Amino acid sequence: MAELPYPLIFRKGDISVFSKSRWIVPIMLFIVAASAIAMLWIYQVDPAICNGCARCIPYCTTGALSMVGSNAVIDPALCNGCGDCVPPCIRGAIYKYWYVGITGDETEGQISFGPNPAVESVFVTGAAAGDPVEVFDLTGRLVASTVVSPDGEAVLELSNLASGNYLIRVGMDEFQVLTLIK
Ligand code: SF4
Ligand code: SF4
Repeated sequence: MAELPYPLIFRKGDISVFSKSRWIVPIMLFIVAASAIAMLWIYQVDPAICNGCARCIPYCTTGALSMVGSNAVIDPALCNGCGDCVPPCIRGAIYKYWYVGITGDETEGQISFGPNPAVESVFVTGAAAGDPVEVFDLTGRLVASTVVSPDGEAVLELSNLASGNYLIRVGMDEFQVLTLIK
């Protein structure tokens, strides 16, 4: 009988070789980490390139793309990464952005914040006293933070941040994520 070019079952030695692989620990750590970290791509508009022509707006069917002042802006919470808005932009202002975020339960609290779009600062109300209030850019980098005062208010100073979209996370173990435009 002709011999098969590969074994149909693992022998004891095969499994022990696999389990001793130096990659098995990193692979298992990656699987655990992947359960806590959500990674996806979305699109963003470079405000330095966008001339506000609005050609891209009708191509977005999710409502993520809108005009804010003289720029197109993409709401990261609504962008599904389809890329349909990219070809209509002949200036090449729309680019792919990897978004990395920590998964978790979002509270359904009555947190409000504003102004949005922001200019110099943002006021957050309705959160629990002592809760952290953190601002992340769309790469997941922490760019500003404060804590909620005893009377339930927090003020984020954003004058040093570039124009663009940001995410505000309010709370620690249970948190709410808000989308901010500056
Ligand atoms: S098509 Fe390009 S340049 Fe025109 S508004 Fe959209 S992103 Fe800006
Ligand atoms: S990538 Fe798709 S969902 Fe996101 S802004 Fe462009 S058209 Fe809208």
